[in-house]
Amino acid sequence: MSEPIIEVQNLKKHFPIDKGFFRRTVGHVRAVDDVSFSIRKGEVFGLVGESGSGKSTTALTILRAWLPTAGRVTFHDYRSGRTHELSSLRTRKLVPLRKELQVVFQDPYSSLNSRMTVREVISEPMVIHGEHNSKKIDEKVVHLLESVGLRAQHINRYPHAFSGGQRQRIAIARALSVDPQFLVCDESVSALDVSVQAQILNLLTDLQTQFDLTYLFIAHDLSVIKHICDRVGVMYAGKLVEVADTDDLFRAPRHPYTESLLSAVPEADPDVKATRIVLEGEIPNPANPPSGCYFHPRCPYAREICSTEEPQLGQPDGDTNRYDACLFSDELELTGVNEIPEEHSI
Ligand code: SF4
Repeated sequence: MSEPIIEVQNLKKHFPIDKGFFRRTVGHVRAVDDVSFSIRKGEVFGLVGESGSGKSTTALTILRAWLPTAGRVTFHDYRSGRTHELSSLRTRKLVPLRKELQVVFQDPYSSLNSRMTVREVISEPMVIHGEHNSKKIDEKVVHLLESVGLRAQHINRYPHAFSGGQRQRIAIARALSVDPQFLVCDESVSALDVSVQAQILNLLTDLQTQFDLTYLFIAHDLSVIKHICDRVGVMYAGKLVEVADTDDLFRAPRHPYTESLLSAVPEADPDVKATRIVLEGEIPNPANPPSGCYFHPRCPYAREICSTEEPQLGQPDGDTNRYDACLFSDELELTGVNEIPEEHSI
């Protein structure tokens, strides 16, 4: 098992709610609420959950796009052999590290500047990080274009001349232009057609080997997660409720919320009758979450104690690869999925 490249400990990101003429803070939105996990070097770690569960906020707080409210994010830089405490670094020391931690966003139509040529888009991070030699920049841009499946003659075109899938390839090339070690893919295939999704996922897999990358992959589509991720973390209302190897999580979930997500995946075997678990109610208001287990108002297995005692993310006996945050995970027999049917797989 490889060493961690990113370690997240008790990370919190709360946004103040200001009201009134004097903009008094009357509460906080707990977008990320005490989340801990680590991402091993060379792996694809997935984050999955409903919209508003805190996946993107977690990723952006790791990248220090936002300052954490509390907690630590540690980056182990394998090139320099140094360890950096990202959550508390001053901006001056953070800027050179930004090239090691890059991101590809969801919408390639808004993430690329339509007034810049492909060359300018891809080379911009290189210039920001000190590369001003035009010949070297052109050589690298052409190499990156070819690596992501585009051609050298595309270099002087503008983003509007490309399809959604091609634009996402340009966005990936831009992220790779500064040779990062860690790449966040924030719903990077969600806006694409299914056939194009498959091409981009396969491209990301190839690039991982070629560029020695580690991914944090955010998605709400379980077939995408199953296709690309080595391990998965499941988020609910700003908290991590389960972490496991992808196959283990799909086959035998330990948290009722994971089971309900998996129940939405169609059964591959036509002889097996699938039972969809339809959760009552809505994801809780992050400004006013429920007491005890945040999932208890919707959990089909909730008991009285669940409304008062908050479960902590912990490991089951004898299994060092899994974590869950359910008071009764050892007793519950939850249903997973064995395989995703052909038409729903990537
Ligand atoms: Fe459900 Fe209780 Fe487990 Fe929460 S702790 S997931 S409410 S059984």
